[in-house]
Amino acid sequence: MTLRFRSGQVKKLPRIFYVSRLPGRYRGITLPPFGIFIEKAHKDNKKLHIHELCHWRQFQEAGLVKTYIRYIWLWFKHGYRNHPLEIECREVARKSTQE
Ligand SMILES: [Zn+2]
Repeated sequence: MTLRFRSGQVKKLPRIFYVSRLPGRYRGITLPPFGIFIEKAHKDNKKLHIHELCHWRQFQEAGLVKTYIRYIWLWFKHGYRNHPLEIECREVARKSTQE
């Protein structure tokens, strides 16, 4: 699978970096074009991986710069809990781990 960014950059599936600690209360962070960062303690957390991959797809669909700007804008408008991009990925992760 290949992900194409607006900049013309082509990315395969994201690299996943397992780190000891992430800032604040984050357990996972998606930072294109670098990859996805997940706390080692959550290495087997399927729901979290799907949530972060959903964010990766959001960047793929709308473009790198546009998605960062949109994400920050929506953050100021809605906060984290009611952030539309977060709600979408929470829902995707919930549905995919339901069965
Ligand atoms: Zn998220």
